[in-house]
Amino acid sequence: MTTSTEVSPTCDTMRIVIVGGVAGGMSAAARARRLDEHAEIVVLEQGAYVSFANCGLPYHLSGEIALREDLLLHTPESLAESLNLDVRTGHRVTSIDRHARKVSFTAGEDTYVLPYDALVLSPGAVAVRPPITGLDHPAVHSLRTVPDVDALRARVDELLAHQLHNGQAPSAVVIGAGFIGLEAVEALTARGLTVHLVELADHVLPPLDAELAPLLAAELADHGVDLRLGVSAQAVAPRDRIPVTLGGPIPESGTGRDLGAVTVTLSDGATLAADLVIVNVGVRPASALAVEAGLDLGSTGAIRVDGDQHTSDPHIWAVGDAVEVTQSVTGARIPVPLAGPANREGRRAADSICGHRTTPQAQVLATAIVRVFRLTAATTGANQATLRTADIAHEVVHIHPGDHAGYYPGSEQVHLVASFAPDGTLLGAQGVGRAGVDKRIDILAVAIRAGMSADDLAELELAYSPPYGSAKDPVNMLGFVAQNVLDGTMPQWQAQDLDTALATTLVLDVRSRSEYAEGHLNGALNIPHLELRQRLDEVTASAGGRPVSVHCASGVRSYLATRVLLSEGFDARNLSGGWLTLKAVHPDL
Ligand SMILES: Cc1cc2nc3c(=O)[nH]c(=O)nc-3n(C[C@H](O)[C@H](O)[C@H](O)COP(=O)(O)OP(=O)(O)OC[C@H]3O[C@@H](n4cnc5c(N)ncnc54)[C@H](O)[C@@H]3O)c2cc1C
Repeated sequence: MTTSTEVSPTCDTMRIVIVGGVAGGMSAAARARRLDEHAEIVVLEQGAYVSFANCGLPYHLSGEIALREDLLLHTPESLAESLNLDVRTGHRVTSIDRHARKVSFTAGEDTYVLPYDALVLSPGAVAVRPPITGLDHPAVHSLRTVPDVDALRARVDELLAHQLHNGQAPSAVVIGAGFIGLEAVEALTARGLTVHLVELADHVLPPLDAELAPLLAAELADHGVDLRLGVSAQAVAPRDRIPVTLGGPIPESGTGRDLGAVTVTLSDGATLAADLVIVNVGVRPASALAVEAGLDLGSTGAIRVDGDQHTSDPHIWAVGDAVEVTQSVTGARIPVPLAGPANREGRRAADSICGHRTTPQAQVLATAIVRVFRLTAATTGANQATLRTADIAHEVVHIHPGDHAGYYPGSEQVHLVASFAPDGTLLGAQGVGRAGVDKRIDILAVAIRAGMSADDLAELELAYSPPYGSAKDPVNMLGFVAQNVLDGTMPQWQAQDLDTALATTLVLDVRSRSEYAEGHLNGALNIPHLELRQRLDEVTASAGGRPVSVHCASGVRSYLATRVLLSEGFDARNLSGGWLTLKAVHPDL
């Protein structure tokens, strides 16, 4: 092993050294070059690839991104040619000497020392390794890098080739139903595997509010996914006979491999046979270098940075999954491992290093989206769990409008949930549906960023023609409903309050008789909403002085009924989101 020191070519040229050559690091490098033609910019990346599309990895696994090369957005050669960057793969930074302003790195067998004028840390995140025995089995994979997806594709190809011999679909266990876990499930199902999905939380996609998650669970079930909620995987163990290992020979039909290469034992005692396991239970900031260098960390273990990405050392900046940001609404400092923030932070760090005006760092909304077969789920701002934990007062509204005008063919329901502060400020929103979810959540993300209120949403002027939306867009509808709730025009009750509603109020179901016959709450009085004005005496008699908890299927007809009752002197309230939301919260109804 040798150690050598590289010296800047000229003493008046700034050398910017960047650790990590993907989202945040490469954004910093490219922006720095655009701002300073003469800086020496060195990117040190421990892996074999830079600037690759990690967000595209699940879609290469599924085959939708057919060509592996399409994931590799740049090479060191293309970056040298286009941006005059010195990009070195296979170079792992091992330590930072802050006093001497040098980094040490290894490349192959050798160790080098490289001085810097400015250092950017963008080392990303490391996968959380859950306490499951047997994770070193070759059938266990992760999905974070290009080599990961190469290995997964090879394994899937091998299993499918074997299927041609024995006719039995291979099976996979995906551990963790977060964004990437769900993308992996979709990809493996598309490739023809039978997939089991194991999630410790009580619903899929834990950042999503609980009442939207059952829609995803139903979609997974519709596509044959075996969903195990509220359980953890405890052990991965080889089966007795495992003739197939990655790259190994394909066994004859009828051998032990047909039963799966491994078994995965769950905390409820169940065992799942699997040819392939993907573990994706979250990430934590890759802050080891920063720790060793004595940089300040936040309480979450992420690197502490200021508004222009400076760490506690004036010559070191940090960006991406490794740093903490300010969470919108709560103001908490947390890491948010998403590509958008990482890219913007990289750009900001370069601006700061090059003495350019920096864009003030906005609070991070953690706006995120995922496709789950035919559904899209998206979220922005604070979810209800976050608001409850932070003890932030809020009203939640649920709506289920069409993504575009109902009279134009192909309208699909958009299930939207939004939380508002008592003064009407929008705090967070989530959506699930087959169409139009991305557009609404992006609008709502902008609305939160702009500090908009229910009144502002009600007044938003959005593009409309029947194939695209409605004259009253779902975003306007959220505003209208929230206005009604907040100013007392429409008092509401929530699905979570069901027990109280049943015990202390008259539940009035204003759906049609046929809807009521298909399923209803015990003790509910059914008066279709168009008959209500003529049958108010029945409500009076049944209520016996109690408040009236009204509901319909989605909350629209019951809103009309609630208004009638309030005008007639009843103490009435409307169920937010109606039977659709009630069933999601109480699936056993
Ligand atoms: C499969 C997958 C799908 C995703 N999908 C989405 C999505 O759809 N939307 C979204 O917003 N986000 C998505 N993300 C998250 C997003 O990719 C990350 O938030 C983003 O890449 C973070 O950027 P970063 O620069 O902090 O880290 P990365 O892009 O991970 O880059 C860090 C790099 O630093 C290198 N490195 C670490 N330590 C050292 C060292 N000591 N020396 C040299 N190099 C080092 C690593 O090898 C790595 O290549 C996805 C992530 C994955 C894995």
